[in-house]
Amino acid sequence: MVRICAGKSSIASYLVEEHHFKRIRLARTAPTPTVEKSASDVHVPPAEPSPIDAQYTFSNVDTLLEFVTLRWREHWVTTDIWDEKVVDALIRRPFFLLVSVDAPVSVRWQRFKDRCASTQLTPPSLSDFVLRNDAHLFAPTTGLQPLFERAHLKLLNSTTSLPALHAALRPLNLPNDARLRPSWDQYFMQLADLAAHRSNCMKRRVGCVIVREKRVISTGYNGTPRGMTNCNEGGCPRCNTATSGGHALSTCLCLHAEENALLEAGRDRINSTAILYCNTCPCLTCSVKITQVGISEVVYNQGYMVDTKTAEILLEGGVKLRQFSPMREGLVDLSLGVGKDAVGGAEEGGEVGDVREVLGDETFVRPLR
Ligand SMILES: [Zn+2]
Ligand SMILES: [Zn+2]
Ligand SMILES: [Zn+2]
Repeated sequence: MVRICAGKSSIASYLVEEHHFKRIRLARTAPTPTVEKSASDVHVPPAEPSPIDAQYTFSNVDTLLEFVTLRWREHWVTTDIWDEKVVDALIRRPFFLLVSVDAPVSVRWQRFKDRCASTQLTPPSLSDFVLRNDAHLFAPTTGLQPLFERAHLKLLNSTTSLPALHAALRPLNLPNDARLRPSWDQYFMQLADLAAHRSNCMKRRVGCVIVREKRVISTGYNGTPRGMTNCNEGGCPRCNTATSGGHALSTCLCLHAEENALLEAGRDRINSTAILYCNTCPCLTCSVKITQVGISEVVYNQGYMVDTKTAEILLEGGVKLRQFSPMREGLVDLSLGVGKDAVGGAEEGGEVGDVREVLGDETFVRPLR
């Protein structure tokens, strides 16, 4: 179900070799679409480096799920995601991660030609290959494009060799449990991100969550006070002018996300176990309020222009400050190398972030711890 020659089998093999996954197979029940039998008059055997044991072959997705549910401590991978019904059945399980793999069409055509050459077959022309590819993805009812849209992690694989592919995959740490179930930091930071989406401030979307003993006690986002015209409807003249961030702040009418969350929680509900999560590092005036009200720790994702000053204030006030960058969602280009940015970093002693990216056409079924 992958884009033709994108590299899904290679990635499945990587998981088998380096992470002790076992491959499982789901038989195809619907007839193979004509386009896959041949759109180019060339039949090329799919790359299938590791044979799959007959005991790991299932006639339908329910028996496959029954099998892996009983063996949730082991790691399983399949590339047999035939249609959306299969995705629907798998994706509601907490141990399932859907990963797609894609590559530029010119790269995939070259791989296809190489595979034809190794089996003494005549390769298709580029235009035949493109037509076949389009039918594979966009044919009504059988096209696989909708499955790509649902992947948790989307890999762009234009690497040119298996060692390069493996080297690019290693830092992603695909078997990381946090990909399946967010850590507390990830969970609360995502809630702060969600709150930020409610922002009505023209300058910047900021969201904040205050937590006590792993329970949310308040949330906030930035914007004009209640009853006033929203910032994005012209409510704050300063925010609606072209002044750059950080200027003329004293004339701004918008409350900051942290202020709103602090006001919402109220001093009585904030104690020395309260942690403030914010998608952006708090500004100076928020920092003094955070310090005064007795928050014990501030966790932020993105930096802001006054981080150093903020850090000084919080340090002096005895408030811990920590950066946590969640695993990025979106496309991971394996040819660029996957650094801390993509993986989500262990920064300033923070926990390792989760990788949450867009996916495509590979499926990893693995246990949840
Ligand atoms: Zn504003
Ligand atoms: Zn403003
Ligand atoms: Zn602020």
